[in-house]
Amino acid sequence: VIDSDPLVDALTAVVGPTHVLTEPGMMAGFEVDWTRRWRGRARAVVRPGATAEVASCLRCCADAGAAVVPQGGNTGLVGGSVPRGGEVVMSLTRLDGLGDVDRAAAQVSAGAGVTLAQLQAHVAAAGLGFGVDLAARDSATVGGMVATNAGGLHVLRHGAMRAQVLGVEAVLADGSVVRRMDGLVKDNSGYDLAGLLCGSEGTLAVVTEVRLRLVPVWPHRVTALVGTGGLDAALDLLVRLRSVPGLEAVEVMFADGVELVRAETGLGPSPVGPAPCQLVIECAGLEDPTDALGTVLSGPGVTGTAVASDPGGRTRLWAWRERHTEAVNSLGVPHKLDVALPLGRLAAFEAAVRPAVAAVAPGAAIVIWGHLGDGNLHVNVVGPPADDEAVDDAVLRLAAAHGGSISAEHGIGVAKRRWLGLTRAPADVSAMRAIKDALDPGRMLNPGVLWAVGQ
Ligand SMILES: Cc1cc2nc3c(=O)[nH]c(=O)nc-3n(C[C@H](O)[C@H](O)[C@H](O)COP(=O)(O)OP(=O)(O)OC[C@H]3O[C@@H](n4cnc5c(N)ncnc54)[C@H](O)[C@@H]3O)c2cc1C
Repeated sequence: VIDSDPLVDALTAVVGPTHVLTEPGMMAGFEVDWTRRWRGRARAVVRPGATAEVASCLRCCADAGAAVVPQGGNTGLVGGSVPRGGEVVMSLTRLDGLGDVDRAAAQVSAGAGVTLAQLQAHVAAAGLGFGVDLAARDSATVGGMVATNAGGLHVLRHGAMRAQVLGVEAVLADGSVVRRMDGLVKDNSGYDLAGLLCGSEGTLAVVTEVRLRLVPVWPHRVTALVGTGGLDAALDLLVRLRSVPGLEAVEVMFADGVELVRAETGLGPSPVGPAPCQLVIECAGLEDPTDALGTVLSGPGVTGTAVASDPGGRTRLWAWRERHTEAVNSLGVPHKLDVALPLGRLAAFEAAVRPAVAAVAPGAAIVIWGHLGDGNLHVNVVGPPADDEAVDDAVLRLAAAHGGSISAEHGIGVAKRRWLGLTRAPADVSAMRAIKDALDPGRMLNPGVLWAVGQ
């Protein structure tokens, strides 16, 4: 028998009984993250279907003194989208409206719950593209991507999510609605609240709608899988690749990860063999970039190439990179350490991180891949229990010691809050705290993310 909960009654009055979940079986999927490393019990899951309902639900939670965890597609990798214990999970996936594409301005409005794949299909029908792409596209939502300032595969050309966001509509903790959806490219009227919400990880407001910049769809697109002798050679190649017109992606992976993907997915042998360091490169433009790319790839340091410009062939080459995440998950629950390094330190970090992990977690599997063009490596370690943070400590300290960031694109969440001070000075953290306390004085939105509760 479930005791009646006045907050559940209040939320039900706002959204209707089918959109408030309290049964453990119904809530289970909302309570554990994609990696299975982070989980907690929710007091309830509420699924508002409109901005006004989000506002009313937040007021109900404020009145009840209940904390709220905003959740989109639940593909985040730092534990910020699932409850720690007793919060209300607010799922935004029903906010899935898409506006007409403004082709003159190359803009569209999207509800927070629209998935990236839905957005891509919608704008493609109008002959336009979206500047951010990532492998979780079928589930990751626009709201979650804003809240994490998602990066992904095309940052090199288009920037991360913040660069695509022209405006937002969001609901603050007290239920007030901030709306800047005019799509004005120029509008310097005070603080950039839309920019501030990018990367705020659900701690400042609930994003309900976003005005997005769109990009051209180029008629020519070519993808290459490339083998190199190591990260140094790959970085030399990156220098030359920067001269190829329309460079969109330079992704990196290593022989052990490629072998794992082959074993777990049945993709067959890698078309470039067991090269120690492998790249997925993509270029797109008005002119066919194949020859320009081919010229660079015929230079020194390249041990093998496979090139495709048809959609099926390109998807097959991308699979080697994109299926790393699921392949690692099949080994166990990963510690996902997403770091950024100055490009000049990347090879030294990669050489040092493997022994550093082995020293604190002997026998653990370490698989590394990432977005080479952005200096971003995903260090994945499988072996240590979920709550054993020795490996996280070793890798994040090493990144900081090399002048890097402890979070390139996934955010801090609950996974990295202990180490925020490694790369953010006390005055910097105080300024962030002041913003948080000004917008959410009751510390109701996503407590435990960025800072431990009570800090
Ligand atoms: C296979 C795979 C590949 C990935 N590749 C990349 C990649 O290349 N680049 C990258 O940056 N990330 C990547 N990710 C991570 C993830 O997809 C992104 O962080 C994505 O932006 C999360 O979107 P989501 O809707 O799933 O958000 P969720 O996981 O639901 O939430 C993430 C955070 O945003 C907050 N949030 C969610 N919605 C809202 C909202 N409407 N308002 C306010 N706060 C909200 C949550 O509270 C949480 O803190 C990958 C994940 C997977 C599983």
